[in-house]
Amino acid sequence: MASSNDNKSTEGGFQDGNSDPNDEETNELCPGFKDVDAFVKYGLGAVLSATKASAGLPQAGDDYDFYRSFPGFQEFCESQGDKLLHLMSQIMQHHGCRSHMRDRNKLTGLEERFDLVVDSNDTILERAGILLDEADGVNRSQQPVMPAGFQPPKIVVSSWNRKGSGSGSRPETFRLLHAKNVARPQLKFKEKVDNSNTPFIPKIFIKPNATKPLPSYFTNKQIRKERPEDLDVPAALADFIHQQRTQEHVEDMFAHPYQYELDHFTTPENLLSKPEVQMYKPMAETKCSFIDTLEDLVALNEKLCKLSEFAVDLEHHSYRSFLGLTCLMQISTREEDFIIDTLELRSEMYILNEAFTDPATVKVFHGADSDIEWLQKDFGLYVVNLFDTHQASRALNLARHSLDHLLKHFCNVDSDKRYQLADWRIRPLPDEMVQYARTDTHYLLYIYDSMRAQLLEFHHGQPGLLQSVWNKSKDISLKKYLKPIFTEESYLELQRKQKKSFNTQQLTAFRLLFAWRDKLARQEDESTGYVLPTHMMSKISEELPKEPQGIIACCNPVPPLVRQQVNELHLLVQQAREMPLLKVSKDGCQQWAYVLSISAAFLKELETKSDQTSLSVAHMKASRIIESFENPFRMYLPPSDVHINKNAKFDPSSKIFEVNKLHLLSYHMSNHMFDSLKGGGKKRERVASEVGESTPKPSKKLMKSADKPQKTEPPSQESFTPFDYSQSDLSVFAGTKSKSNTQFDPNRQAPDFKKKVFISGNRSMSYMAGKSERGFRHNWPKR
Ligand code: AMP
Ligand code: MN
Ligand code: ZN
Repeated sequence: MASSNDNKSTEGGFQDGNSDPNDEETNELCPGFKDVDAFVKYGLGAVLSATKASAGLPQAGDDYDFYRSFPGFQEFCESQGDKLLHLMSQIMQHHGCRSHMRDRNKLTGLEERFDLVVDSNDTILERAGILLDEADGVNRSQQPVMPAGFQPPKIVVSSWNRKGSGSGSRPETFRLLHAKNVARPQLKFKEKVDNSNTPFIPKIFIKPNATKPLPSYFTNKQIRKERPEDLDVPAALADFIHQQRTQEHVEDMFAHPYQYELDHFTTPENLLSKPEVQMYKPMAETKCSFIDTLEDLVALNEKLCKLSEFAVDLEHHSYRSFLGLTCLMQISTREEDFIIDTLELRSEMYILNEAFTDPATVKVFHGADSDIEWLQKDFGLYVVNLFDTHQASRALNLARHSLDHLLKHFCNVDSDKRYQLADWRIRPLPDEMVQYARTDTHYLLYIYDSMRAQLLEFHHGQPGLLQSVWNKSKDISLKKYLKPIFTEESYLELQRKQKKSFNTQQLTAFRLLFAWRDKLARQEDESTGYVLPTHMMSKISEELPKEPQGIIACCNPVPPLVRQQVNELHLLVQQAREMPLLKVSKDGCQQWAYVLSISAAFLKELETKSDQTSLSVAHMKASRIIESFENPFRMYLPPSDVHINKNAKFDPSSKIFEVNKLHLLSYHMSNHMFDSLKGGGKKRERVASEVGESTPKPSKKLMKSADKPQKTEPPSQESFTPFDYSQSDLSVFAGTKSKSNTQFDPNRQAPDFKKKVFISGNRSMSYMAGKSERGFRHNWPKR
């Protein structure tokens, strides 16, 4: 692969992407080959005939021994063998690998030489992978860790992966990807994204339509700015510092800013009686405005405030950002459609609170659960007087409750949900995507009318059913956005879902990788699924690879950040390997099993010794272990004489809440343990036998109190079917064919990589046979 232009290349060989100024002029990849296709074709032909020839050689054993008896054959074999070894050495040297292939005397055996080849192959393939990524337009080289939200765009434009500018009709050998090269919108945000491991505080600072004023915390800009943003501050401590600084009631900080208004909101009478169903305007006759300036946004808000209803939808991106980004807002009135560029107007969107919280205006959404959270998270927007057509669909008991179904059912419109998972960060927005986005709200007010009418008909004009939909909608608008909070226990919940029985080493690896992934995702502002998909994390933990290469082998394709930090990851795996080896249950509570097994050991000790002294010593040991297990967060908690606002303990979004619960949990567990230890023979037997079977199960009650108040696990990818871009014409995005798109998608299991594994000693080597189809298929974290 590399040897043909050996003498031409500089020290870096392939690595050197920027240094060949002649590339563009000569239009040749390397002498004699006009492009990569030609080179690969030639290379494959050569490899094929070599393979054929080698298969035709006399087989080891009698065949070979017979031929060996002819001196001519022997000589030929030796000279060819030397030649081959020399070539292999050269290739290996070229790639900076150990290469004593030819020094036969210095080598003890074939096996060692084989290992050398395996190592070199791994190194070469690894480099090929990096270079392919680079060709893709992504620079994987070490970068300094940037503060959250500030990451240089990961685009490398080098002479050979740049689109052929001005080179006429020459077909491009490498094409850049549309979605790959979307500049990170985060870079343009006026306000930095806060990925710190602290509870979410509402972004609101002006409260239109208020009956209860906004707590002073939100109106005082200075105080708001003082919140510690250091990513490494344990959340409980951050909360505490923050309280001390602001002397503010935590209760007010974390509450829903429109809780009071929503609690006192009653659906107006006219919305509970028979509506006049107003037909939608044909899309083709409807004006559609793209809003990306403050001026237009203000005008839109004024327009909306005068209406009795309007429809809203959002498009969101969650793959290349830790908390996700709301990229688009669609609004439809009876007369017009609006598409708002919420990436551009992110810091100004709060203006719409005037219309959105106006109780006199109905806001119609379909399936608003996520939208309500995203509005809070990105813009500090809230909704008062919501009607959710998804809730209406449920109340009407329709066959399906998706928007496509409602569109078909009420409007006989065939919608194309293919764009639902498109990369909504793309700008300018392709026409197809604008059309798709419009469809999501354009018909919604008509559907709202029709559904209200049906809900009343259903109950013979009685408003009960309709009222229940209004109530359910209100409950949704009361939802609070909760930030994913990392705790020392978060990993357990996710591990449990893997349905894999891990021993203590594997579980430790899972815990360490989980923490690494969370930290990196926050720092780099990427989703955890982008940093390291769960199934790969699980595989690494399961295999506990001895070498960094083994970690790479667990991932296909290799996530960029894994490749970049493979040595750090390897250290974590090594650390896990140092754990004492114990089997852990499927339910996988490491400490639980650990404590149980150690306690069991002491119980055995108790059983064998009968005198009183040894019993109390063992008892003491057991209690010390249990004590140490008691509260992993103790060190983060302020001393007991410091006042902690009691509300924090009951606010599920607060870390103190978590800590408080954990404390309770461990208290329960310790008590339970002591009960078992102190209890009669029957109980003792149970504990001991549980350890024998390695399946101790925390009681239901305990499990329940261990439940997290919010979803902290990264989204699982299991039940989600990725959107297949290969089906659509994406030429609009980048003016390129979609065929050779090579978006990195770590969630994809890459079925086209025909993976072969050579086992040699305890090492394994993998390589890709056949052409890798690294097609652009997004796999999005599940909502
Ligand atoms: P929709 O309300 O259908 O327009 O969806 C709004 C946003 O939700 C989309 O932009 C996606 O980010 C996200 N989304 C919708 N469906 C899915 C899904 N099946 N899996 C993951 N994300 C989804
Ligand atoms: Mn939606
Ligand atoms: Zn939508």
